[in-house]
Amino acid sequence: MTAGSDYQRLRAHLGFLRMTAAAEALPGLLDEAAKAKMGNQAFLERLLAVEVDAVDERRKASLARFASLPSPFTLADFDFSAQPSVDAKLIGELGTLRFMEDATNVLLIGPPGVGKTMLAVGLGHAAVAAGMRTYYTTAADLAARCHRAALEGRWATTMRFFAGPSLLIIDEVGYLPLPAEAAAALFQVVSQRYLKGSIALTTNLGIASWGKVFNDDPMVAGAMLDRLLHRSVVLNIDGESYRMRSHRARAEATRKALR
Ligand code: ADP
Ligand code: MG
Repeated sequence: MTAGSDYQRLRAHLGFLRMTAAAEALPGLLDEAAKAKMGNQAFLERLLAVEVDAVDERRKASLARFASLPSPFTLADFDFSAQPSVDAKLIGELGTLRFMEDATNVLLIGPPGVGKTMLAVGLGHAAVAAGMRTYYTTAADLAARCHRAALEGRWATTMRFFAGPSLLIIDEVGYLPLPAEAAAALFQVVSQRYLKGSIALTTNLGIASWGKVFNDDPMVAGAMLDRLLHRSVVLNIDGESYRMRSHRARAEATRKALR
C-alpha cells in the first residue's frame, strides 16, 4: 500500500461523507503535520475541527436567514443610559437565554420609539448565535399569514410552523386592532407554545387595555394573557422615544449654535 493510494482513499472517504471542508484542507494539513511532526491524534483533531467549524457556520447562517430579523442590532448596541427605565442587568440576564429553558415569555410594553423592537430583535440575535431556532414576525403578518392559510387549507401546517421555533418574536401587537379571525389565530399560536417555547412580544398597549386588540373580546384577551403571563418577564418601558430624543438633541445643538 502506497502513501499515494492511502491519500486517494482518504480523499474519497471525505468526499463520500460530504466533508468538503476537511477534504479541501487535507493536503495543506498533511504538509503541516509532516513539518511539525504532529501526532495522529493532533492531526485528526485539526482535520475534524475544520469540518466542524464549516458545518457550524453553515448552520448558523441558515438559522440567521430563517429568523428573518429586521435589523442587525444586538443587545450590546442598546444604549441603556438613553433609556433608564430598562434595567441593564435584567437585559443581561435575558441575554444568557436561560429564560428559554422553561419557555418563559418576554413582554416588552411601551410607547413607540423606546426600543421594544430593538430589544426583542437583540434577543433574537443572541438566540441565533446560540444555535436556537428563532423566528421574527409582526402581529399583522402573523394574522395575514394565518388568514391565507385558512383559505388555502393549510391551517394545521401554519400552526405547526409557528409552534416550531424555540423563540418566536411577535412584534407590534396592538398597533392595529385584529379582526376576530386574526385574534383567534394569535390566541392559538400563543396557546400551542404555552409552556413549550418562549415568545418575545412587543406591544404599545398596557396589559389593562388588551381587550382592545381583541375587538373588545375580554374572554380571548384574558385567556391569552393568562398563558402569556404565567411564566414571563414583563418590561414596562416608559421613557421617551429614542428617535425623538436624538431629534431633540440635534435641535438643541442647532439652537445653541445659532445663539
Ligand atoms: P419601538 O419598537 O419601541 O417602537 P425601536 O426598537 O424600533 O422602538 O426603536 C426605534 C429606533 O431607535 C430604532 O432605530 C432603534 O434601534 C433605536 N433605539 C431605541 N432605543 C435605543 C437605545 N436605547 N439605544 C440605541 N438605539 C435605540
Ligand atoms: Mg417596534
